[in-house]
Amino acid sequence: MKNKLINIAIDGYSSCGKSSIAKSVSKEFNMKYVDSGAMYRAVTLFFMNHKIISNSKINYDKLLRSIDDIDIDFYYNIDLNITETLLNGKNVEHLIRDNNVSNQVSNISQIKEVRDKLISFQRRMCSSKNVVMDGRDIGTKVMPDADIKFFITAEIDTRARRRFDELIKHNNLITFDQILINLNKRDTDDTEREINPLVKSDDAIVIDNTSLSYLQQNQLIFSLIKQKQDENNN
Ligand code: C5P
Repeated sequence: MKNKLINIAIDGYSSCGKSSIAKSVSKEFNMKYVDSGAMYRAVTLFFMNHKIISNSKINYDKLLRSIDDIDIDFYYNIDLNITETLLNGKNVEHLIRDNNVSNQVSNISQIKEVRDKLISFQRRMCSSKNVVMDGRDIGTKVMPDADIKFFITAEIDTRARRRFDELIKHNNLITFDQILINLNKRDTDDTEREINPLVKSDDAIVIDNTSLSYLQQNQLIFSLIKQKQDENNN
């Protein structure tokens, strides 16, 4: 018997492994993966490239005038088996992970017009179901009716260490302390912003992965999804 199609929302703090979880769920259950953070990063990169953000100052008039010029899409790279982000047709997957973008993105993600644009795009992407999406407001705003919601968390030092190891692999010149400062700032910005702050949805399952291995975490999450599929099929 074929499983009924479901949507899965994965929210949580920065760098606690949400996108790795979402990618492995997408492979295991043959679902489409949508990285909502990549969209906020791509919009931020656009504003940086067009000098709409300069020295951390935002030119709001220019931002509002140019917001409709931004087109974001995803491309599935078969060779690498990953989804890459396209900004106005250009592959920006590496550029959007740069620390300059990380330092600005939470300022941009607080802007109502930016959120409205991205949320309506994200809702369209999950309207036909079979989507696993990760972010900050997926279970609360983008898909409040998701079939399963996870809220992922981990201690901040563990998150900073994992991000440091990841960036070093790509020869990024960054120190552990710079990452820690950025994560602390993004946690504060994301949880304290007025519009759609990061909050746990009441019906989300909390996973603290500080002391879980990648394998243990996947086993736990996969078994919870299978359980849900069985309930849906009955
Ligand atoms: O997930 P990632 O760390 O790449 O997201 C980058 C930033 O985008 C977050 O720090 C947050 O400010 C913003 N974001 C958001 N809502 C989402 C996803 C990301 O505000 N759904």
